[in-house]
Amino acid sequence: MTWRQGTSYLRFLAGLRQFLNSPVSFEQARAALAHALQHREENFLQMLQQCVYANPASPYLPLLRRAGCAYEDIADGVRREGLEKFLARLKSAGVWVSFDEFKSAQQDFNNYALSATCEVSSGGSSGQTARSHLDLDYLEFRSYYDHLFFQMLDLYRVPMGLWYPKLPAVTGVGNCLRYAKLGKPVDRWFSLLATDQVKSGRALSFATDLMVWASRLSRRPLPMPELLEMDKVDTALDWILQQRQNTGRCAFQSYLSQVIRIAQAAKTRETDLSSVVFIVGAEPLTATRHREIEAVGARVYSRYFASEIGSIALECGCPCEIGDYHLVTPSVAVVTDGPSLLFTSLLRSAPKVLINVQLGDSGILEDHDCGCLIGELGLRTHVRQVSSFRRAKSEGMTVPHRDLSRLIEEALVPKYGGSSLDYQWIEREDARGLTRLCLRVHPDRGAISETEMVETILAWLRRGDAGLPLAAELWRKADTIQIVRERPQQTALGKTVTVVRDETKTKH
Ligand SMILES: [Zn+2]
Repeated sequence: MTWRQGTSYLRFLAGLRQFLNSPVSFEQARAALAHALQHREENFLQMLQQCVYANPASPYLPLLRRAGCAYEDIADGVRREGLEKFLARLKSAGVWVSFDEFKSAQQDFNNYALSATCEVSSGGSSGQTARSHLDLDYLEFRSYYDHLFFQMLDLYRVPMGLWYPKLPAVTGVGNCLRYAKLGKPVDRWFSLLATDQVKSGRALSFATDLMVWASRLSRRPLPMPELLEMDKVDTALDWILQQRQNTGRCAFQSYLSQVIRIAQAAKTRETDLSSVVFIVGAEPLTATRHREIEAVGARVYSRYFASEIGSIALECGCPCEIGDYHLVTPSVAVVTDGPSLLFTSLLRSAPKVLINVQLGDSGILEDHDCGCLIGELGLRTHVRQVSSFRRAKSEGMTVPHRDLSRLIEEALVPKYGGSSLDYQWIEREDARGLTRLCLRVHPDRGAISETEMVETILAWLRRGDAGLPLAAELWRKADTIQIVRERPQQTALGKTVTVVRDETKTKH
């Protein structure tokens, strides 16, 4: 931890008590969202001024210069054409960032205008340190969105449990802080794995505990994370059933794969989960997965977010299909480039400065009225059929496809021979709705111990940057990686793609 990170973290801890002692009501959240929606163009321009034009190292300055855009031109254009139209025009003028450019220089996109953040650095060997920030102002803003689905699903008086890892995964601590902010602290936090088993996780695991201790000085303390291994699904299920028995309802939040396992455990026990709401995100909720969870009587509610930008969309209360979301337009603007989504952050408190950045996701955007509470507040833009075309998602972990290609080149080819064309990843949803990463290995590579090959893959991930060691740990426990001895498939044009998605089970 650097001196700057250290002092920033101390300021974060110092602000925590005030943050937790001043909860935000639904009415306040609604008013703040309406205000931000009305002023999104001004907010974007202020963000641009403070985080881009005032930062000589901003990666956007050369792009804007090349496009001949001074700040005044942008301000004029946005006011004249509206934000999205102008962003699309900026894209055509070359002001946008591809997924690979973004991933290879992530630290350049950090919002250095923030001064009191918990900067989560996971270190790294190749110099590509990936950081996530927890900023209290941004967390407060995101809690306004949580209010919307709390209101819609009537969750304010329902016991709430979480099952997520500690830092460096930000989801667990982020959700605890946000729910405390809206006046409904989490009742129980099961920690999905001991992050001190993960490289450089020990300091961050301690940072999580320190935050929980600091929260005890406030009126809304956070729950201390209690280790619960991934396969202890029955313990989680018992807690859920106990809460339902006590209060009539229960809300539980985890990675989609864990929620699917809980639903399956209930099915095995022939227990129905009516009056239980599961809240998920990070992995797309497909029809198979949705059916698997609702078959036991539970309700599942999904949100769409990414660590780089925070909240992106909330599931519609009257969805036109599974996976119909409302974009959170008060803080985010999205334009499309073909099927690819380009993201722009509108608030100065956002962890990263994004202007037309590809995060590797595709989807369909459209404006329409749906009649749900979120739509009534003016969030009219829907996004549906969201899927990732540049990163693999399993067990709540997201790994860019480029890392999976590097893995083939750096770990498999040197050890098992052949060329990178002898290996191919397939993302496949199994019959239970869990995502498996299968590695096709050409039969020409001869006799190979599959167990040893999986170990080699996990060892490479463990040495990696950012979330890779955490993904290695969760994927090992979930047996996510499987080896298939078959010839990698080629596209119609004869090209071998490193990562393909097996759609046979996911389309309905
Ligand atoms: Zn809606």
